[in-house]
Amino acid sequence: MNFSKLLFNIAVVSSGICNSTSVATAQKITPADQKINVLLKQMTLEEKVGQMAQVTLDVLGVDGASNFKLDDKKVADAVLKYKLGSVLNTSNNKAMTTAAWNEVVSQLQKSATSSRMKIPLIYGFDAIHGATYVADATLFPQPLAQAATWNRSLVRKAAEVTAYESKATGVTWNFSPVLDLGVNPCWPRLWETFGEDPYLVSQMGVQTIEGYQNPLGGKTEILACLKHFLAYSDPKTGKDRTNSWMPEHYLREYHLPSFTAGVKAGARTVMVNSALINGIPTHINKYLLTDVLKKELGFTGFVVTDWQDIENVFKRDKIVGSNKEALMLAINAGIDMAMIPYDYKTFFKDLISLVKENKVPISRIDDAVTRILRVKYELNLFEVPFSNNSELPSVATSISEKIGYDAAAESITLLKNKNNILPIPSTAKVLVTGPNSNSMRTLNGGWSYSWQGEKTEMFASKYNTIYEAFQQKMGAGNISFSQGVAYKMDGKYFEDSVVDFNEIKTKAENVDYIILCLGENSYTEKPGDLNDLNLSDNQIELAKVAISTGKPVILVLNEGRPRNISRLEPLVSSIIDIYIPGNYGGDALADIVIGKINPSGKLPITYPRYVNALTNYIHKPSDEQSNPQGAYDYSADYNPQYDFGFGLSYTTFQYSDLTVDKTTYAATDEIVVSFKVKNTGTRSGKEAFQIYVSDLVATLTPDVKRLREFDKVELNAGEEKLLRMTIPVKDLGFINTNNKLTVEKGAFVIKVSNLTKEININNNKTW
Ligand code: BGC
Repeated sequence: MNFSKLLFNIAVVSSGICNSTSVATAQKITPADQKINVLLKQMTLEEKVGQMAQVTLDVLGVDGASNFKLDDKKVADAVLKYKLGSVLNTSNNKAMTTAAWNEVVSQLQKSATSSRMKIPLIYGFDAIHGATYVADATLFPQPLAQAATWNRSLVRKAAEVTAYESKATGVTWNFSPVLDLGVNPCWPRLWETFGEDPYLVSQMGVQTIEGYQNPLGGKTEILACLKHFLAYSDPKTGKDRTNSWMPEHYLREYHLPSFTAGVKAGARTVMVNSALINGIPTHINKYLLTDVLKKELGFTGFVVTDWQDIENVFKRDKIVGSNKEALMLAINAGIDMAMIPYDYKTFFKDLISLVKENKVPISRIDDAVTRILRVKYELNLFEVPFSNNSELPSVATSISEKIGYDAAAESITLLKNKNNILPIPSTAKVLVTGPNSNSMRTLNGGWSYSWQGEKTEMFASKYNTIYEAFQQKMGAGNISFSQGVAYKMDGKYFEDSVVDFNEIKTKAENVDYIILCLGENSYTEKPGDLNDLNLSDNQIELAKVAISTGKPVILVLNEGRPRNISRLEPLVSSIIDIYIPGNYGGDALADIVIGKINPSGKLPITYPRYVNALTNYIHKPSDEQSNPQGAYDYSADYNPQYDFGFGLSYTTFQYSDLTVDKTTYAATDEIVVSFKVKNTGTRSGKEAFQIYVSDLVATLTPDVKRLREFDKVELNAGEEKLLRMTIPVKDLGFINTNNKLTVEKGAFVIKVSNLTKEININNNKTW
């Protein structure tokens, strides 16, 4: 294959997508840049290429050691001879203690800073719900559950603790937040997202970035990494790392906003979508990586690949016939650092020869290294290459654990409560059953103590499973247990088997309620791919057995994706979605069931009713044609099991007095929206309110409605609050088919709960 021709083709394909609004800010020369220029002038090509390389920790360990130990020879080879700039991951796919981390990172940094250029390494890991690879850390709810709190400040606090507890290990870089849009309920990483709405994802993403980073280089702060740029979460197949097909205006309307917000919030690294968009592997998509991200968004940090993804350009995607050609395309497209993660020698050899053969310009290498060094400076790594837990000793304190508990409690979403059966008396007798009822693994999900979460039981035994939490809160004598169905712990995540259904029937005779805990075992990425969104046959059978006892069934869903429950829904008394709530999820659930906590979570996704009807709440009017006229009485109904934004409380809230400050606005104005919310029940509660806006007529079919603002308020029984929010008219615009943000004049409807208000925009504007 003639690969200069291929490069040309890709450039043409990519730039064939129209240009769009430029929001780039002129790059300033900072004092750090001046130092970097000096450094860069002294660096050899080998040293520069080394900075662009990242290997996984296992590459540097003693072979066969049961507890990880760095191998001095391997470290010397990688860090001193090949001068690599970055290391990632834990070892042996297993969490280490903070102290063990300190050993590893300090030794590596000592080695790196003894090299000719004395450039420290940048060490990264995935701390996506707390410091996941740190044995003693606080583990929070997974991001989808965090979004279900609709509580910005809790999300931020969880990020601050994560930063502190990561920093105590010596690691300074977190491959988080996931800013992908959780629009495909089949996708195995849905639970790693902040849900399906671009505004919600952006807002929670910004809180997370600020919680990790502010101020960058501070003693307890770490570096965020926005991932996975771009549209990773919306593959047509629903399977991980597969192609998504989408026009650019769609990419910009739905998938780009969270990344734009993340860059604006100061994130300095971005990880690339491991898959493809429109058949182009994102790792060689120069238009997206360079033209959009670096130029248009003004991103001056660095871009890292995902795991082995340069190799995937030839091995998986068949774009070229060798790793070297793939490397050329990726670096020229704008990749600054390669998560190699094993064979660093080939990477070095190939990249150096590509530069010598003039296939990768030295200016591109200099740009990549400048970006990497800039971030290392900003992180203060040159001054403090590693921190340790004697300086940061407050890991998993009662304060951080309380944040974990609060986040779980505020995320848990009550979806059904027939005859207000919940809360139940704490003196009631209860049978706890189901594959998720006695498992710390399912409460924590993937990225917990190990990649797939399969090692969780080894580390989390001091926390309460759902069964243990109910025993503690209601007294062991009141709780009976029968698992019913068990996951296969060393098999595929979706494999389960029947334990004993007869025992359930017998034990149910002596209880008042059945807590039925169904859902999913832990998984992530490719191993988490799914063929059927229905709950497993064994779990459905178990549910039928529980229902057949005649005792009220409280269905608890502990799952990363909305598994189909439509046949069970009418037959159970109550449904509670706990998502993947982390180490304190069992406690928070039990407190909600007995009424110690009033639930306030709301769905950050649409819960589908049928497996062939996965339409999100953001959709076009054509997706909900219910009553056409004439002889053809068909319906394309939009009828999810539960709507995006839905969640019940033990109290009731009434909205009134929706007003706006004007009736007509210019496209550059701001709209001040006010309304009242009153707690009309008998107990205090928190309400996540949501402001939606519908554009009634537009040249590109408008979405039926879009979330434009939200927040959460706490109200005592009988209390009323006046709330006021400001929404720029610009935010009501859409990306037109020329890929420009545009507001078109005409009527818009603002909706808050059951209230609506029509306003008028009096001019067209395109940015
Ligand atoms: C995942 C990323 C992760 C990286 C490093 C990849 O397989 O897709 O999300 O950050 O591994 O662990």
